[in-house]
Amino acid sequence: MTIQRPANSEGANSPAKPLLGGVFAHAPQEFGVATGPRGRDAICATCDRLTSGEYAQEFIPCICGSLDEICIAAVDRYGIPHRTVLCTRCGLLRTNPRMTADAYAHFYQHLYRAIYERPGHDPDAYFAMQETTGRLRASRTLRRVKLRVGSSVAEIGCGAGWNLLPYSDIGCRVVGWDVDDGYLALGRARGLDLRHGLLSTACSSGERFDLVVLSHVLEHLLDPIADLNALKFLLNGNGLLSIEVPSAFATARMERYFQNAHTWSFVPETLRAVMQQAGFECIAMNGVIESIWRPCSTVASAIPANPMLVRCTASVLVARQRRRWLLDREMGLRHRFWRVRDAMVIWPRLSVGSI
Ligand SMILES: [Zn+2]
Repeated sequence: MTIQRPANSEGANSPAKPLLGGVFAHAPQEFGVATGPRGRDAICATCDRLTSGEYAQEFIPCICGSLDEICIAAVDRYGIPHRTVLCTRCGLLRTNPRMTADAYAHFYQHLYRAIYERPGHDPDAYFAMQETTGRLRASRTLRRVKLRVGSSVAEIGCGAGWNLLPYSDIGCRVVGWDVDDGYLALGRARGLDLRHGLLSTACSSGERFDLVVLSHVLEHLLDPIADLNALKFLLNGNGLLSIEVPSAFATARMERYFQNAHTWSFVPETLRAVMQQAGFECIAMNGVIESIWRPCSTVASAIPANPMLVRCTASVLVARQRRRWLLDREMGLRHRFWRVRDAMVIWPRLSVGSI
């Protein structure tokens, strides 16, 4: 296995045993989320490729530049080896080591979707379920973002386009990009303009949009700062960016949270720091991390150290894993403060669009 560990990546603060311990310390046979026979085969194939080194891995520093870390978990929710660490400088959670770009490319092409298929997977029923969730998401976005007939909406990593339907229904021009041909066909059969490709393909199209949606995409990116900077070229002059990522503070069951396809894991404060580093300012964000952003002229020079967030994140994750709800509530007070503060920062509906 081609892993090169930096000399200081396992410092005094980094215990050999993951902080969450228990099921996160080793690969159990049955664990976390149910999956079908095809999914179990894909999980085994992923584990085999990681163990044999066919999927090469590499150690990376945090976005803030620090290599100091605490190991939180050693496996993901499927029991796949997946080391999640907490940066002890800024509090950002990341996968370290993580697969190389080539390994991820093979994984996404051959194994990723199969792992997520539940027993008895029915594409149409899955589309209907995702469409219901997508309509709820869009209704919350449209409370803050005023789109008009003729406004344009794009989604990168759109799947079958379920998130785009509500915007199409109100007269917006919608375009989605994804690389899963099965999902693309499913959405095209419903009349959606879905195209093959991801961010680079979308940027090379030369089109610009009033709203760009990244729903459960940012946590998969290898270089989110570079991709967020590129994404600005997809936005109209007053265009907005909608980002949804799973919050480590909002998950009900920690054993379902970590996924080997995720390279980063966020809480509201760390997402805010990363977005500021990429030159975006927050318009609205809730506790489960549905958020609206717009490009700003000031770019943060560096992600600041945040020792309080580091302590809070470690304590909340351990309390949640151990079901110590009292401690969880106590340590979650700061998180609740952020939620209240974010809820207060609801500006008047923002008008975007060319009409
Ligand atoms: Zn950091």
